[in-house]
Amino acid sequence: MRGSPTTSVLRDGSVPGQGPRLDVTAVLQAQRRLAGCTDPGALAEQLVDEVRQAGCTRALLLEPVARSRHREMEVLAARGEVVLLPGRRTTAADLARATPSAVLELLPGDPGAPRLAVWGAPAPDHAPPELLAAAAGAAWRALRAARDAERATAELAGVQKLLSGAVRLAGLGSWSWDPATGRLTLDDRLRAVLGMGPDDPDPDLATWRERVHPDDRGPFAGAQDPAARVGAPVPYPFRVTAADGTERTLLGASVPLGTGGAGGAGVVQGLVLDLAAGDRSTGELVRLAQCDSLTGLANRAVLDVRLGEALAGATPTSAVALVLLDLDRFKLVNDTLGHQIGDALLCQIAARLQQTAPAGSTLARLGGDEFVLMVPGVDRPDAAATMARNILRRLRAPVLLPGLPEPFVCTSSAGVAVGHDGTADDLFRSADMALYRAKDAGRDRVAVYDAAMREDAQARREAEHKVRRALRTDGLRVVWQPIVDLRDERLVAAEALVRLQDPVEGLLEPKAFVDTAEDTGLIVDVDTWVLGEVLRQLRQWRQDGEGLQVSFNVSGKTLEHPSFAHRLAHSVESTGAAGSSLLCEVTERTLIDLSSSTRASLGELRSVGARVGLDDFGTGYSSLSYLDRFPLSFLKIDMSFVRPLGTSERAAAVVRALIALAHAHGMVVTAEGVETREQATLLREMGCDRAQGWLFGRPVAAGLLHPGR
Ligand code: C2E
Ligand code: MG
Ligand code: MG
Repeated sequence: MRGSPTTSVLRDGSVPGQGPRLDVTAVLQAQRRLAGCTDPGALAEQLVDEVRQAGCTRALLLEPVARSRHREMEVLAARGEVVLLPGRRTTAADLARATPSAVLELLPGDPGAPRLAVWGAPAPDHAPPELLAAAAGAAWRALRAARDAERATAELAGVQKLLSGAVRLAGLGSWSWDPATGRLTLDDRLRAVLGMGPDDPDPDLATWRERVHPDDRGPFAGAQDPAARVGAPVPYPFRVTAADGTERTLLGASVPLGTGGAGGAGVVQGLVLDLAAGDRSTGELVRLAQCDSLTGLANRAVLDVRLGEALAGATPTSAVALVLLDLDRFKLVNDTLGHQIGDALLCQIAARLQQTAPAGSTLARLGGDEFVLMVPGVDRPDAAATMARNILRRLRAPVLLPGLPEPFVCTSSAGVAVGHDGTADDLFRSADMALYRAKDAGRDRVAVYDAAMREDAQARREAEHKVRRALRTDGLRVVWQPIVDLRDERLVAAEALVRLQDPVEGLLEPKAFVDTAEDTGLIVDVDTWVLGEVLRQLRQWRQDGEGLQVSFNVSGKTLEHPSFAHRLAHSVESTGAAGSSLLCEVTERTLIDLSSSTRASLGELRSVGARVGLDDFGTGYSSLSYLDRFPLSFLKIDMSFVRPLGTSERAAAVVRALIALAHAHGMVVTAEGVETREQATLLREMGCDRAQGWLFGRPVAAGLLHPGR
């Protein structure tokens, strides 16, 4: 029976255990004793014991390679019971070739399982060694399974401990999903993020999916499981509604933990990072959180921290300088050359700033074209101003931008404030005021904050308050100034000029509030209100049979808002007001900063017949190239050119040239600020078409204009 699974060879050739009588009770008891062994060593001894008690002369438990029993083998060999082959380790095969009556495999077919070598035959009524070996094999298998399970459990516990430690360190929440039970389990942190109490039950899959924003359900919308797509644990951002109804943005990743039972998919573990809560645990997120993504400079959050630290350690002789830097007309770069070139310019500016920033300073980009340099350890404001001027000089050097054939020159403005005992907010405000001053004074310069700026800022705050109140309480007025045809001085048009009726200070002129309204964006509301008055008055005059044109001023800011032009076009169309009677005055600044939205607004005005013209022509800008940017119907020569007429030959020459230029462009020319008869006569002789000024009338209420004059 050499081929039998449990039995090998008996020296006498008989099958062990086939004795006439078998004590079944004894066999069962032996099996029970073997099964009761709690470790392999004890099992081996028990087995050897049982076999000997069964009447065999000797039994030996052999491991796959009989090394641990080598010593015992040598003893046997000395007694002549075993023949050891010289120079080699004794194996089970060696033993079989030697003297045992049988070599029994405890687990037939399992090369890792021990064998039992038996000498001599059992007593006839005792349990045969192969039965005992089989019982020991079963016990041995159970012990091995228990040991493996124990080892796996310990290993898993270790991994889980490691994992949960890492998860906790990283500030992550986690969930796990078991496809066998369909159960979704959330950990405490994720529960906290979702605002769930400790006693709230875990959501089921359907509820979970419902909580996730419909656009973000992709990763949870597998055939039947939330993480059917866990093959590649690529993090996916998703929004989920917390218990209090607020929306949280989480970054999730899912990993399968192994294959589950019943042939199904394994348990899936998901990790979740709460982005909204400011968890920034991975290097990339930290970088994202601290850096401006375009330029790599520090962002506002980092600057705030460093500025706070610097101020805490500042003294009068070691103060903190804050330099706010803003590129001049950057918006125009974006609008005309495109955002890609705009971004490239910002990156180059950032690189130059990094080269010029002194050691120990912090350089940040707040967004758009706004940069900040914070320098601790500054002793005097003028030292900071000199530094800022040097920086501006470096920034002014031409840059080569991808796709532009010519080097590009961009100037910047800077506001500087130096402080040691105020708050970070104070310092920011002061630097901001200085920057405003630098821009206002014509850009491309540095301004240092001083006390007068604070007063100025105060005045602007008051002006803002007045404008807001006037808009709320119907406190705006329109006055009309006559515009005459210079050939016969007939009234042909009137310009609407805004006034503010202040409860304390009375009627205020635009210089008291228009600049502030521009800065704060309130001008859009002011212009819109004036437009309503203009259209109302135009209808009135038409009803009265007056063929007057009406001129009105529109800020560039207003034209940026498409609603203004829409409203005008709609009113003209719906009320049948003659669009061709409208003269829209824009400034040189508007044309220089011409953005696509402004162009669209101007186009819409023209499409209903309104004429667009240039106000205050000749002030400020030396280049006239912008005249070609948009088709203009008229041009108003600024009063600064008109005033010296009659006293300055040069002024006359300039005005003559301006009129010729305007006519060459097919524009009607109006002279502003005509106060004397002499000025009017000269202008008429020069071919100027129209005039406006105190000679012909001051701005007055509509009813006081004298049409037909
Ligand atoms: P502007 O559009 O150039 O208006 C002409 C300004 O010159 C008016 O000042 C007018 O009163 C003044 N003026 C006219 N003739 C003479 C003169 O012979 N001598 C002198 N010394 N001044 C004369 P005003 O009304 O103070 O308006 C100032 C500026 O405010 C306007 O200049 C315009 O730029 C702005 N503005 C007025 N109304 C509005 C408005 O509704 N919206 C906007 N965005 N700006 C407005
Ligand atoms: Mg005007
Ligand atoms: Mg003007």
